[in-house]
This record gives sequence, structure tokens and C-alpha cells, in this order.
Amino acid sequence: MRALISVYDKSGIVEFAQELHALDVEIISTGQTQRVLREAGIPAVAVSDITHFPEILDGRVKTLHPAIHAGLLARRDVPTHLAELAAHGLKPIDLVVVNLYPFAATIGRPGVTMAEAQEQIDIGGVALLRAAAKNFPAVLVLVDPADYAGVLAGLRAGEVPLAERQRLAAKAFAHTAEYDAAIAAYLRTDPFPDVLPMAWRKYQSLRYGENPHQAAALYGNFGAFFQQLHGKELSYNNILDTTAAQELIEEFPPAEGAAVAIIKHTNPCGVAIGPDLRSAWEAAFATDRDAPFGGIIAVNRPVDLAFAEAVNEIFSEIIIAPEFQPDALELLQRKKNRRLLRNLQPVTRTGEWQIRSVPGGVLVQEADHAPLAAEEWRVVTKRAPTDAEVAALRFGWRVVKHVKSNAIVYAAADRTLGIGAGQMSRVDSSRLAVWKAQQAGLDLRGSIVASDALFPFADGVEAAIAAGATAIIQPGGSVRDEEVIAAADAAGAAMVFTGHRHFRH
Ligand code: 5GP
Repeated sequence: MRALISVYDKSGIVEFAQELHALDVEIISTGQTQRVLREAGIPAVAVSDITHFPEILDGRVKTLHPAIHAGLLARRDVPTHLAELAAHGLKPIDLVVVNLYPFAATIGRPGVTMAEAQEQIDIGGVALLRAAAKNFPAVLVLVDPADYAGVLAGLRAGEVPLAERQRLAAKAFAHTAEYDAAIAAYLRTDPFPDVLPMAWRKYQSLRYGENPHQAAALYGNFGAFFQQLHGKELSYNNILDTTAAQELIEEFPPAEGAAVAIIKHTNPCGVAIGPDLRSAWEAAFATDRDAPFGGIIAVNRPVDLAFAEAVNEIFSEIIIAPEFQPDALELLQRKKNRRLLRNLQPVTRTGEWQIRSVPGGVLVQEADHAPLAAEEWRVVTKRAPTDAEVAALRFGWRVVKHVKSNAIVYAAADRTLGIGAGQMSRVDSSRLAVWKAQQAGLDLRGSIVASDALFPFADGVEAAIAAGATAIIQPGGSVRDEEVIAAADAAGAAMVFTGHRHFRH
């Protein structure tokens, strides 16, 4: 039996090769792999001794040679294949162990150049894996050290079953598919290419999906964004809510103040900004004192003890922060059912895809990470908003973007006052927002109102003014804009058109 070993990451390879050697397997390997094996006292033949051709072009061509590929691809059950091998002085290769140049790690490095990335595109290794995997009944293919032990056990017992060989082949093709997807994604110049270059690796199995009877799993690299410091495993809904909460809190840079967002079912129930997290928490919580129970809290500054003591009063599923001060962490960790997550890097990145499944495929769009762009707002009323109103409009517009449509948000410059989310009619969302504010005992006089999409009729604006709003922010663009503007003017209210809407379905 002959094995070809060519690994970039050499960890564990000596031990595995030792076992193969003990089983009398003849080992062939590429330059550096051969050196490592020989240094460990394991005899290994150089690929160049098989190909009678040196490794050239700085290693770009090592194993790309018929002497190697014929040995992998020859069918053992076709006599002409074996005769052809013999006629050319070649021998079959029965096992391939490869791990590839670290392309994904390379492009993940800050400041990496295209030339460096290109150099880390493995060609020969991928060819070895595909050739071996195609011929899986005869050739064992290993891309994962976790499979070494099982294969060794099979070899010792005299046979690795066909089903296991097939499993290893599927794994090898999935591995090269993932590898090529990463390269295609990196090189892509078309924002929406003909084929989505994607392959997601399972990050973790989930206990269940949105409901207990739905099986679920998480794919990708969630761990690069959140580190869990405490509490039981995140659920499917936790992950969705965490994403929504973090996206919202990233609207508020720490330099602008301490911000707190409380999220339930991906919608905010209260958002506020203040001199410190505790006062921001109190203002956010004041928007709605019922809904935050079992909710998710995201903050934009390190959690301190004063904030921790305040949020400790109610049960929240998750607290997300850039950092936790040790005494705050100690306090918050006392509740077993509370998860604490450290946000490691921004989740809002311009140009990123947002993907949702539809029958037969996926819908892909750019995520709604449009910046505030207040300089593009247009005052459409006779009266321009005051500075205080502008501050409140800036606040409300950033929050309404994160509320399910139809979305209406009443706000002051530093806090939400009433949120109406997810109604099928904008009028109902408006009513709900006003009613919520009343329930919370909040006064809407002098507030602003933000609407995620245009007011189609004057009635919505009239109702907002009647509720106490003095300034309105909305995209504009209704055929009845004139009537809508006239209603605001009639009441002396200020209104700005953003020109952008923030539907969130
Ligand atoms: P070594 O460290 O042994 O010199 O090289 C091992 C690496 O080379 C492995 O990651 C393997 O996938 C890769 N490799 C094997 N054959 C070829 C080839 O012909 N061309 C290129 N570019 N890489 C190869």
C-alpha cells in the first residue's frame, strides 16, 4: 500500500505517519512534509523521486504530474488501467492525506495584498483531493485529522468499509468546495455574481429552531463576532435577537454617549443614550416597563457595576457589551440563566449580503447599513426643525430603521417614547406607539415622530401632531406629499424628508 502525504499544517502528521509506517505503508511526500517526516525518523520518498521531475516555480508545481495522478485515478477493477500503469512504470497510490494552503486565514489577515492571497491558492493539493475522492472505492482520502484514528483502525483490521470511504470522499469534495468558494468570494468583482460563492461550515448544532419541533443548526463564523462569557448555549431565537440588538446599538458610537437598546423578538422596546449606561438604561426601560422581561440588552460601552446592578433587577436573557468590568461581570454571572456576550467586532459592514430563503433558493440583498446621511435630509415645511428637534429626529430615525415595518417611533433627543412595530397598517402602528407611550406614562408633547416609510395620507401626520409631536421625519415621496406637508404646516410642525426608507419585513 502507498500513501501520499502533503500537508501545509503539519500538526499530528508525524504520529499518523508513524502508524502508517508501522503498517508497512510506503510513504510519498512533498518537500517540507518529507523533511518533517524524515526528521522524525520516518522513511518517506520524495514526490520528485516518483515523478522524476523537481518541484518547480516556488512549489506551484509539485504533485501535478501524471505519475501521481495516474496512480490515484487508475481503476483497480479495470485491467487495462492497471496494464497502462505498468506500461509506464507507475504504481497505484491508495491513500492521500492533504491539508491545503491556508487561504481563508491569509485573507483574514489585515492588510494582506492580492499577491499574497494569490500565492495561498492551493492548486496541487486540491487536485490530489479531487482525484483521490473521485476514485474513493480504491483510494482513501483524508482532509481532517479527526478521521486518522478511524482509518488506522480500519487498516489494522484489514479493510476500511466502502461506506466510510464514500463518507471521506464527500468530505473531501465539501472541503474543496468550501475552499474554492472562499477564493471566488475574495476575487469577486460582481456584487451579485451568477453563482453565489458560498459554503458555510457548521458552527454548532442548535437544540431546536424557532420552535421546539424545528431542528436547527448555525453555520458560519458567529464566534468571530460574539464571545460568550456566561450562561447556557444560545438558542436560534437568541442568535436572531442578538444580531438585531447589536445592529441597532452600532447606530450609536460610544463617543456620542452611553447607549442602551432593549430588544424583544428582534424589535426594540426601548432605546436611550445618556452620560452613563445606568442613566441610559433607566431612560430606555422607561419606554416600556413590561416587554423587556426576558429580553436582550445591548450596550455600546463597557458594562460597569452601576449599570449591572440596575439591569439585575429584571430578568434578561442576554446582555451584549464590548466589555464587562470585573465587578459587573461577577454580579451578572450570579444568574445562571443569563447569557453574557462580548461583542468582538462590528456586525454592520457596508456592502455585506443579507440572505433569506425562498422556495428553490435564496433572496440576496445588500444589508440596510445605509449611514444616517442627515446632510441629505430636506426640510419640506415652512418651519425648520429646531436644534433640539434635529437631535431627536437623528435619534428617532436611527431607531425606526431597526423596527419591523410598519414602524413608528416617537422619540426625544436621548430616548424612545413610544414604539409601534410590525403592524399591517401604518395607522395601527401609530396608534400603538401612542398607546404604548400612554401606558408607560410618557408625555409625547414636544416629541418627534419617525416613520420608516412614507405617510400616504395627511391623517397619519395629523394624528402624530394631535398626539404631541412637533417634528416629523419620514422618507417622503407620496403622491399626496403636498397634502401631507400642508397638514404639518397648518399645525406649525416641522417635517424633513430623508429620501430613504427603512422597510424591515
Ligand atoms: P510541503 O509543505 O510538503 O512542501 O507542501 C505541502 C502543501 O503543498 C500542501 O498544502 C499541499 O496541498 C500543497 N501541494 C501539493 N502539491 C502541490 C502542487 O503541485 N502545487 C501546489 N501549488 N501545491 C501543492
